[in-house]
Amino acid sequence: IADLFKLAQQVVQEIQNHGFQAYIVGGAVRDSILGRDIDDIDIATSAYPEQVQKMFTKVIPTGIEHGTVLVRYHGTSFEVTTFRTETGYSDFRRPDTVNFVTNLKEDLARRDFTMNAIAMDQSLQLIDPYHGQSDIKNKVIRTVGRAQERFLEDPLRMMRAIRFQSQLGFKLDNEPLDAIHDNKKWLEKIAVERIAVEWEKTLTGTYFNEAKQSLFHTGLVDHLPILSEHINIQLEFQRLNCSLPSFAAFIAYMNLNIADIAISDWTNRWKLSNQIKKDSHLLVQLVQDYPKEPLSWVLYRLPEDLIEDFSRLCLLLQNEAINKEDIIAIKNGLTIKNRRDLVINGQDIISFFPDREAGSWIQHMLLETEKAVISEVIKNDKNDIREWLQYDNK
Ligand code: ATP
Ligand code: MG
Repeated sequence: IADLFKLAQQVVQEIQNHGFQAYIVGGAVRDSILGRDIDDIDIATSAYPEQVQKMFTKVIPTGIEHGTVLVRYHGTSFEVTTFRTETGYSDFRRPDTVNFVTNLKEDLARRDFTMNAIAMDQSLQLIDPYHGQSDIKNKVIRTVGRAQERFLEDPLRMMRAIRFQSQLGFKLDNEPLDAIHDNKKWLEKIAVERIAVEWEKTLTGTYFNEAKQSLFHTGLVDHLPILSEHINIQLEFQRLNCSLPSFAAFIAYMNLNIADIAISDWTNRWKLSNQIKKDSHLLVQLVQDYPKEPLSWVLYRLPEDLIEDFSRLCLLLQNEAINKEDIIAIKNGLTIKNRRDLVINGQDIISFFPDREAGSWIQHMLLETEKAVISEVIKNDKNDIREWLQYDNK
């Protein structure tokens, strides 16, 4: 983390050497004050994107019209954005016009919360015109300017307020809390993809329960896809009292409890990726199989990146804890890691039964063999498998 900051300071210094102002801004400054891990650093500058492009050898123009470029510096990416203000959000998506400004304070004024409106110069001095440091110290989320105006300008900020509460455990000041209550319906104007980003961070936050309380207290929950449409879903969500590791785990959890809202309903309404859809389906399948099928067969089919989701879901739904370390140990001890490790394939199966016509029975036998090898009913040995298949005549 310290290295990341050093690199960011060098980028800032390089921009200054060209005669422009530059500062570290946003979440990185907030999280460094809080002592939290930082994974990306944003930089604000008085230089225009075209000017920044000339200063570094590798610059990717990710959002030139909004003043943003991605600077690759010693293998690390920094989002460098020209000081700007935003006016008019008539479509609730993107500001109508982006005005570049020369002054840092104006740039900080467009930012959502005081804790996110602190800048840091190359010598790590803080520029904090909206008193973000004292709000961080008091653990309170307040908007830069009137909450009413700022939420109407970009209703996504209501969702962001709640996701920051979930991640940081800060209180929402009364002013933003009332303003969410008054403006909540405007959230429906926001592109669902943007809401989904904040929603996932809300679900996975350490202080999920506090955030959930704000969602109900303000009524913002009544303006979220699916949750607003089904009272039973909303009640189930209300009962959920701990965070989940991912959006996929959340969907699996809800689907296992309320099966009449299909996984595809969730992923369509929230416009989620196919990966999330696939992960949700697999999690539901494996959690259902967990008490019925041999443990080795369940964990064999569990990909590494879903171990945490699976472990949490079992705890919540089966009341049966199986921790990550145990899962990893069991997976490491499996006789084969995937189907390619099986000593036989479809061709072999055909040769074991020369009289049979090709058909779906081959895939079925392959699956049965895989399962038998994994649960150590038979050895991963060609002769053993052939005898077992021919004897059993599956
Ligand atoms: P995280 O650590 O989750 O990335 P972050 O504070 O960096 O949190 P981002 O969404 O990455 O959040 O945004 C970077 C910064 O841009 C914020 O800190 C804030 O200053 C500003 N910002 C982002 N979204 C908005 C918005 N909708 N309205 C106003 N300012 C915003
Ligand atoms: Mg960020």
